[in-house]
Parts: sequence; structure tokens; C-alpha cells
Amino acid sequence: MKSLSGSLLKGIGTKHNSRLGLTLATLALLLQTPVAVAEWLGDARPLMGTEVSVYLWSDDPELGKQALEEVFSEAARIDRLMSTYKDESEISQINRLAAEKPVVCGDELFQLVRRSLDISVLTLGAFDITYDSVGQHYDFRSRQRPDTDTVASERENIDYRLVELDQATRSISFLKEGVRINLGGIAKGYVVERGIDILRRHGLKHAIVTAGGDSRLLGDRRGRPWMVGIRDPRIDDKVAISVPLADEAISTSGDYERYFEEDGVRYHHIIKPATGTPASGIHSATVFGPDAVITDALSTSVFVMGVEQGLTLIATLPDYESIVIDAEGRVYYSDGLGKPAGDGAE
Ligand code: ADP
Ligand code: MG
Repeated sequence: MKSLSGSLLKGIGTKHNSRLGLTLATLALLLQTPVAVAEWLGDARPLMGTEVSVYLWSDDPELGKQALEEVFSEAARIDRLMSTYKDESEISQINRLAAEKPVVCGDELFQLVRRSLDISVLTLGAFDITYDSVGQHYDFRSRQRPDTDTVASERENIDYRLVELDQATRSISFLKEGVRINLGGIAKGYVVERGIDILRRHGLKHAIVTAGGDSRLLGDRRGRPWMVGIRDPRIDDKVAISVPLADEAISTSGDYERYFEEDGVRYHHIIKPATGTPASGIHSATVFGPDAVITDALSTSVFVMGVEQGLTLIATLPDYESIVIDAEGRVYYSDGLGKPAGDGAE
């Protein structure tokens, strides 16, 4: 059991860890014994273009398995609503029509767009869901990127103030042709929050739900804190820093998640709205605090803002802390954060 937990936590740091899936799947099989005993259960599945995993302690394994399935169904449901890769999703419909007329949408999507726009204000536009007018021209698998003319023209469509919400009719409109929105920087945090809510409603007390670089911990690891690994941004499977946490959310944004290299330049998936090009200067930004929707959006924001501006922002948010690894591999901690164990201090 100990080694399983070790590989799970490593998985949190490394995100797309297929070995994690195997280990957890094997465990699930082993647990199908006739005698029901309290036990750790877990599984990891490909969803939302990444890996979603659930790991929980249940006194009743049947109930635990049912709760686990519900979390995966919920992630799939949210993806169907919010994925820009699905033509029939609510967000795709908005992207198609909102420049012509206000588009009425469901409360869930409306609220998440509203929260995204609030975070744009907070981060002075570093977080901006309209980044997608440029972002849509990237395809990291086929090493495709927009040329400089495309970046120059599409950049004009990046501005969160071009998205207008009408609370009364619950509708979204774009003030300009060419504007598009994408919730890739916040939706995984939302999935994780919803997943933890499901587990809590089932009476569970100890769990982790992870979607890509976003995790939320429910309780502790039965008397001990969870040790969450922040991976080395340049060495797969190596944990750079371990953070002890309980009852908290943690998100990491890194330039190693989706990228390709061309002539020594790394083109990755986090776009600086001011330039329309991938943000530079940081290899990874981690944020932790009470709400995974916020940690998800803030990790992307700190990545875009850079070490100084990013950590200055975090210093204004009493419940949130951050650890940043810059392009030289130097590690920075936000005010109010004792250096975690394993990093030589405190
Ligand atoms: P991960 O997807 O690895 O969890 P992030 O949470 O940082 O990493 O999200 C990165 C995603 O956020 C990108 O793939 C893209 O969908 C979206 N994104 C990129 N740039 C921005 C930005 N400036 N503001 C908001 N979202 C962004
Ligand atoms: Mg994020």
C-alpha cells in the first residue's frame, strides 16, 4: 500500500503517468475480493485531453467504487459541456454565434465564464480565456503554430473585455468578430472541485482527485499529510519539491505539458495575452489554497505574469501560496510560505 501511495503522488507531479493508471487498475482488481474491508481505492483514466485520477479511502469498498465512478462520469459530463474540441458542446456554440447575437447558456458555464473574467481583472489580463483566438492555431501534436501575421491579427481578438455577460438573460455575447473563449486554464480545477464534492456527499473523508496538473485533497492521508510532488520541469518522473498538504487544492502550470521545439525555441500552451506568444521566463508555477478553480486559474496566471509580478499578486491573497521554478531552475516561494520539507529548510 505504501508503494502505491508513492507512485500516486509521483503521478500527481508528473500528470500524464500511464504507469500510474496501470498500478491503480491492478489495485482495483486485487480489491475485488469477496470480503468487504476498509481500503484505499483508485483509478486513473484519460479524459479532457489529460489524465483524471481518483484515490480514496472507503470503509465500504462498494460505496467507494460507486463514488469513484460518479467522479469520472462528472468529469466526462463537464468535458462535453466545456470542450472546444467538441462541436456540439455549449462553449463551441458560443464561439460560433456570440459575435452575432447574445447566446443563452446554462448556469454552470455562465458562472465559470464569469469567474474567469473576474480573474482576468485580478491578474490585470494575464489570465484571459480569449487567448484562444491565437491558441486555436496551435496543434502541438503536429507541431503547428500560427505565423507572425496570424499572431498579429488574432492578438486583436484577445481581450476579456470583449466578452459581455448578461446575468438577467444568462447570455454571453462577444463585442467583436473573431473573439473565441476556451476554459482550458480553469475547467480542470472545476472538475476537481466537483469531484471532491461528490466524494464528500458520499461521506468520504480521505481522498485525492486530480485532473492534469490540478488536484484537490479531501482530508489527510489518515493521520498524515499528503505529500504532493512538484515535478522537475525538465526531468520526467523526477520530483523537485514535495509539499505536505491536507484539505487543500494545488495546481501546477508547466511549459512541459504540451509543447514542441523548433530552432531551439519551445512553443508551449500557455499564451501571454499581451504578445499572443507562449509566455517565457518560467518553467513551472504552482499555486495552492482552498479552491481548485482558483488555484488552476492562478497557476496559469503566475506563469504568464512571471516571478516578480506573479508572487506580488499571490502576496495579496492571504489564502493562496505559490512556488515558482524559473527558466534557470531557481525556486521561489511566496511570502508566508515556510520552505517545505525536503528542500533543506524548516
Ligand atoms: P494544464 O493544462 O497543464 O493544467 P494550465 O492550468 O496552466 O495547465 O492551463 C493551460 C491551458 O490554459 C492551456 O492549455 C490553454 O487551454 C489555457 N490558456 C493558455 N494561456 C492562457 C491564458 N493566458 N489565460 C487563460 N487560459 C490560458
Ligand atoms: Mg491552470
